[in-house]
Amino acid sequence: MTEHTLTVAGVTVDTRHWIGGERLASAATFTDVSPVDGAVIGEISRGTPQEAEAAVAAAKAAFPGWAATPRAERARLLHAVADGVEKRLEELAIVETTDNGALLRSHRRGVMPRVAHNFRFFADWLLTLGHEDFETRGHTNHVSWDPAGPCVLITPWNAPLMMASWKIAPALAAGNTVVLKPAEWTPLTASLLADIAAEAGLPAGVLNIVQGYGSEVGDALTSHPDVARISFTGSVPTARHIAAQAAPQLTPLSLELGGKSPLLVFADADLDLAADLAVEQYDNAGQVCLAATRILVEESVAEEFTRRFTARAARLRQGDPRDEATDIGPNIHPRQLDKIDGFVQRALAAGARAVVGGHRGEGQYYEPTLLTDVAQDSEIVQEEVFGPVLTLQTFRTEDEAVRLADDTRFGLAATLATGSRERAERVTARLVAGTVWVNCFFVRDLQAPFGGSRQSGVGREGGTWSFDFYCDLKNTVTAPKGWQDHG
Ligand code: NAD
Repeated sequence: MTEHTLTVAGVTVDTRHWIGGERLASAATFTDVSPVDGAVIGEISRGTPQEAEAAVAAAKAAFPGWAATPRAERARLLHAVADGVEKRLEELAIVETTDNGALLRSHRRGVMPRVAHNFRFFADWLLTLGHEDFETRGHTNHVSWDPAGPCVLITPWNAPLMMASWKIAPALAAGNTVVLKPAEWTPLTASLLADIAAEAGLPAGVLNIVQGYGSEVGDALTSHPDVARISFTGSVPTARHIAAQAAPQLTPLSLELGGKSPLLVFADADLDLAADLAVEQYDNAGQVCLAATRILVEESVAEEFTRRFTARAARLRQGDPRDEATDIGPNIHPRQLDKIDGFVQRALAAGARAVVGGHRGEGQYYEPTLLTDVAQDSEIVQEEVFGPVLTLQTFRTEDEAVRLADDTRFGLAATLATGSRERAERVTARLVAGTVWVNCFFVRDLQAPFGGSRQSGVGREGGTWSFDFYCDLKNTVTAPKGWQDHG
């Protein structure tokens, strides 16, 4: 360990920003604490507007070179980053678990392979990106995807490297340069990614990372006139603030925000599958934007569904996320735990009944909770808790199910459990949601559009949609004649 590094489970992590291909320390630091056991991990460089400014300047300086780099070379470098992620997969997994408390087994087998895949997918997609030329009265239309410029990417703590790579990969593939601002509760794997990118040969200034609090570095990034795109994943209030900062420059924004997604269980469903899907919503201790936290079950099967759900919930093992046998780890921060408990206690005081849980566990853990007897207009049904807290309501008709499902200000996702294809199609057509899963959950293909409706977000990313966002689209119309060479 030196003045500017710390060691997590044997892995050395640089605590400084990564700007213009160099490490840069701030005068001040913030303390990074592990949710696993509350232990201090170390002190991290705490960015100021000056570092934010330096990072944008570095991204701007590197932009022309990177934008002019042939697609095949950009793709090769992104594959080299993916190779580096795969080589250091075990290290990334344990560092991420220590930093954000999500399960080590998920990081090893799901998340980190997906991080590598994010880089490979957008590198390969870039090589196929294009549009057939088409003719208008003999004139040729040619559509090109031009790199837009420096992009500011701001990410949350619930899936730090996953979210960062999901933004960095398409932004860089498109020929843009990047300033990433990782969440202050989980800065570590982004720093490791900087090392990986440098080892892969990514030119200086193409990827820049500024650490620190959103309130301290955020405005300098999001109001900067040299920034061509802002992609943000996080909460609705922060999104509003960022949109206001971006408004004077009219900087295009992509916003991936919160949700209060429903799981609709119809009487014709396989109830074991429905109960499995419901219990899956406790993944990552409920800190998943897509989680279907409102279970809506047809009245005639509500009792049986609840019986099967509670049997499964009782088998969940809560504990150290580094233990392969653990199903639910800690919540991210004591403040988040207070927030979760506040929601639950207010719901209970308002007449809700805890079928499962309803209180804190040991340390930074919250008992998986299922609340029933909740009113549709109550806080617990309308607001995102972002913890292992589900509500259960019943319905009698398909109409009522759709009405309840759609009656929030969000529209991120919905999950259906039904044995009827016709019903699935009918209900899906009526729901407001960016993604609908039918008899499954969390299956995500990078070529599919991803995003939320209403206050769950603005825009869609994935496949071509990502390139549409990260590029300036240009249509060139060429007349059939007028060339000097008559060629
Ligand atoms: P948050 O809005 O508090 O913070 C997100 C990021 O924004 C952090 O990096 C933070 O430092 C930064 N930030 C804060 N203030 C800022 C400012 N003034 N200017 C610029 N940046 C600023 O959200 P969170 O608590 O970290 O994340 C949880 C939220 O994220 C939940 O609402 C969750 O649903 C949402 N989320 C959405 C998706 C999705 O894809 N839709 C995925 C994961 C999480």
